[in-house]
Amino acid sequence: MKRLCKFLLSGLLCLFVSGAGHALEKVDFIVSGRDKGSVSALESNGVTYVDVQKTARKFGTGIELFAQSKQAKISTKGFYAILTAPLAEIIINAQPHTLSAPVLIQGSKMMVPAEFFLLPQFQEAVDKYVSFQDGAFYVERRFNLEFSGEQKNKTDTLLVFDARKKIAYETKQLNKHTVTVTFPNVTLKRDLHSRTRTDFIASMDVRQGRNGEAVLKVILGKNAKDWSFTETDGKLVFRAGAQKAAPVLAAAPAAQKAEAPTSQPDAKPALKGPSLANEKPSVLMEDDGFIEMKAAPAVQPVMKAEKPAASKPAPVIKAEPNPLAIRTAHKKMRIMVDPGHGGKDPGAVRGRYREKDWNLDVAKELARLLKKGGFEVQMTRDNDTFIALSERSKKANQFKADLFVSIHTNASKNRSANGFQVYFRSEKATDKEAAEVAALENEAMQYEEVHYNFVDALLQSMAKNEYINESSKLAGYVRNAVYKQPGIGIAVNQNNSVRQANFYVLKGVNSPAILVEMGYISSSKDRGRLANGTVRDRTAKGIYTGIVNYAKKEGWID
Ligand SMILES: [Zn+2]
Repeated sequence: MKRLCKFLLSGLLCLFVSGAGHALEKVDFIVSGRDKGSVSALESNGVTYVDVQKTARKFGTGIELFAQSKQAKISTKGFYAILTAPLAEIIINAQPHTLSAPVLIQGSKMMVPAEFFLLPQFQEAVDKYVSFQDGAFYVERRFNLEFSGEQKNKTDTLLVFDARKKIAYETKQLNKHTVTVTFPNVTLKRDLHSRTRTDFIASMDVRQGRNGEAVLKVILGKNAKDWSFTETDGKLVFRAGAQKAAPVLAAAPAAQKAEAPTSQPDAKPALKGPSLANEKPSVLMEDDGFIEMKAAPAVQPVMKAEKPAASKPAPVIKAEPNPLAIRTAHKKMRIMVDPGHGGKDPGAVRGRYREKDWNLDVAKELARLLKKGGFEVQMTRDNDTFIALSERSKKANQFKADLFVSIHTNASKNRSANGFQVYFRSEKATDKEAAEVAALENEAMQYEEVHYNFVDALLQSMAKNEYINESSKLAGYVRNAVYKQPGIGIAVNQNNSVRQANFYVLKGVNSPAILVEMGYISSSKDRGRLANGTVRDRTAKGIYTGIVNYAKKEGWID
């Protein structure tokens, strides 16, 4: 083993990496001393990389991958980071930050330097202590009370606790043999059950309860005539003995003290993880409260296998004003109508019918009606040309659109799937089917040029979720109006036709936005209807009426 120390972030991070010829293939997860599996890893130039998706899930954070922009977004409450291959520059909570090595793409995986998960901001966000040693992540609860060991003497037995703050407690003797100590406000390093088996203490059990409370429960041994719980030399000590006496702590640390990670809430990445060799053999059970995420519910476009691109100079990140703040009030509602797909991207195809043609036809009719109705209207395309998804939201934002309406036609392997649906964007999909529809529409990203646009990503994350409520309202109005529009002949399920899913095209739009799936091109029934120009015009009319009703309700028109 070759030990490498790297100077990092003005802190010191020591990575223990195997030498040449022993390529690191996985990194283990040791959570509160327990093996919690591993993630795939690799080494490059002495830097340990881990699979970003698997690792983020192990930590219980959200993770989205964007194949074409080669970006990953890791998010959890109050924290997000945007990583871009092949750059070392990342964004954390809108602030630029540089890793010691660039993010890589390997096969279908995005690999990031392990140091990312040691960043103080990340540790704080996941509310854990994280350290890295000997090819493993060590993850610990952020604790302020830790069992540090037992001290077995001739006339008494001591249970010793280290506290990281002044800790309140209350003792109670439940019966002849059972004593509890309740700590109303602590976080234990870990739960512990230990059979001490001395004449004074038979066993002890300490665990984290609800609302920040922890309870120590001690079963006294047969010769215990007296017990006490006191603060002694800055340590909390439970003593049970043959007679009343003050606890006397040995000069050396009591028993075998487990080595704690050194990081504090605001500290630099920890140097060492706790040593497993120091685990006490008397420990029978431990609980750690660690969450291992199941497959994330959000749609995650699969990254295509590609060779890492050559290094590009880091983009300059300019301070951009918040898009929400620069919105100017205009009298007429501005609507961006977005016919899905186009040009080299046909969308769903069945026989001679192509989604892109129907989308364009309905969008044009919708735009015509809206203009006639007094709205200001633009279209992302008004002919058969290819427009990248990111370009569509950009156009809408340049237009300062108040609404964004994307027109699509659905498709499914299930030929009996049919009906009209309206989607609005949210991180989580209504159900598996909604997620599949989003995955289908997001596939259009494969036609996009690779771009590394930090500013875009930044603005997108700012605008995120601002408009979910308005979008769901708009979706409801459009659904109802299409339902009432005569002569369409495509099912509108009242319970199930307004849905949410993670559509890339709606992601960057700084306004309420919906995506309409007019029907299923894969359903012979829907296809028969949509192939009819009159039906398409009626669909446009229905969508139009829904938008008008929404605009009235929102006070744009009388
Ligand atoms: Zn589509």
